[in-house]
Amino acid sequence: MPFRITGKYDLVICDIDGCLSPESHAPINISGLAKIAEHNRLAIQNRDRPVVTLCSGRPIGFVECLCRLIQNTLIPCIGENGVWLWRPADNSFECDPAITDEHMEVVHQARKLLRSLFEANGVIQQPGKSASVALYHPDTAFLRSIVPTIAQEFQKRNWPIRVSMTWLYINCDLQHINKATAIDRLIAQNSIKPERTAGIGDTMGDRFIAERVSWFGCPANSEAEIKKAATYVSPHDEVEGVLDILDQLVH
Ligand SMILES: [Mg+2]
Repeated sequence: MPFRITGKYDLVICDIDGCLSPESHAPINISGLAKIAEHNRLAIQNRDRPVVTLCSGRPIGFVECLCRLIQNTLIPCIGENGVWLWRPADNSFECDPAITDEHMEVVHQARKLLRSLFEANGVIQQPGKSASVALYHPDTAFLRSIVPTIAQEFQKRNWPIRVSMTWLYINCDLQHINKATAIDRLIAQNSIKPERTAGIGDTMGDRFIAERVSWFGCPANSEAEIKKAATYVSPHDEVEGVLDILDQLVH
């Protein structure tokens, strides 16, 4: 049975970093997340408000953990910028079937190249990614400065990899995989109507969420560019902003 509620939206697809938790390594606001968890518990029990699920560039294990924390026991969450779905209803993982062995080989080659180019400078490849590469360096200005070189090196080799920057990471993702392609899989598999979905995000990577949902909100700390895609921009930051956005959606 598809999930339907009495209100206007069945599902809120929410980014993690900068929305539910800080993108930095600062502690997560657990009292804020507890309110999201209570919202989800009531949503699933009473079917009177939309379920909040997650759509993130983080490794799927991190997303699974937060999905469980916010008590979403029903609707799949998305990790690694669309590579993975995790289904809380039956604990199954699904890698996008459009990722072939050849794509995996390109990602493997990209990892080797990035190590040879930047490992000596202290650029770290984030652990836990399987069909993409995320790069971190404590000096964000330095990290930002190497983005054009990386894009050129990939282009020279004709590798189908998109290079983008969040606040603190460089994401190297397969070109044909993004948050929108994963949302397409999620809504098709769960018989969810796109016009009954809302989304929340804080950086330009979330334009892929904004273009699939019928209502989009941003917390106050969002990039100026993505705020242009929003129906509503909360005056509050991060999880307090998300709670305010949920309030707008429900009332
Ligand atoms: Mg974010």
